[in-house]
Amino acid sequence: MPFSKPIRAVTLDLDDTLWPIYPTIIRAETLLHVWLAEHAPATAQAHTISDLRRLREQLGAERPDLAHDLSALRRESIRRALLVSGEDPALAEPAFDHFFAERQRVELYEDARPALARIAARLPVVALSNGNADLRTIGLDYHFVAAVSAREFGVGKPDAAIFLHACERAGFAPDEVLHVGDDPHLDVLGAQAAGQPAAWVDRGLHRAPEGFAPQLRVTDMAQLADRLGV
Ligand SMILES: [Mg+2]
Repeated sequence: MPFSKPIRAVTLDLDDTLWPIYPTIIRAETLLHVWLAEHAPATAQAHTISDLRRLREQLGAERPDLAHDLSALRRESIRRALLVSGEDPALAEPAFDHFFAERQRVELYEDARPALARIAARLPVVALSNGNADLRTIGLDYHFVAAVSAREFGVGKPDAAIFLHACERAGFAPDEVLHVGDDPHLDVLGAQAAGQPAAWVDRGLHRAPEGFAPQLRVTDMAQLADRLGV
């Protein structure tokens, strides 16, 4: 094992590690637009799906105070679109709820569920995400001893503080808690800076940066479970 100490717990990224997030968001944005066409037609007519996405990105740049809270950013961007279209900004709530429900309808990678079950049967697993997945709605919460999100914690990965908090929730020191994730910067480098060993789940979405040295590199969760010997 390439670890300085035995692994006693796991912190686990969600989006793009257990399921692909891009198709989920595209579907949720499409359904949001359909909902707006019905309930706020002027807003839907004045904004394409891409316009709404741009609005959200713009808001993210303008409001660093909301950067860790994707739900708040999404809700506020819908509110703005309603306002500039002369429609009731209060519709942002039900519109967001509609988006959010669809955002939870993720399709897990084939390897994810069985591998997560293997790992969670042997080691405490803490979810650690910058996104707004709801593990209970998705039906995976029973595999996790805790879930830490940037939204609730107030700051996201790669900040060391959120990794240290997740290790505390796992009940072990950072050098005994393996962080697992797909993003070289947010997950691997972030965890390593917090003193955790890191496993990179390379699903082919990111290029490894110069000098990148995860303690483990796997291409899916099944390989990870194998390498952990669980
Ligand atoms: Mg991810």
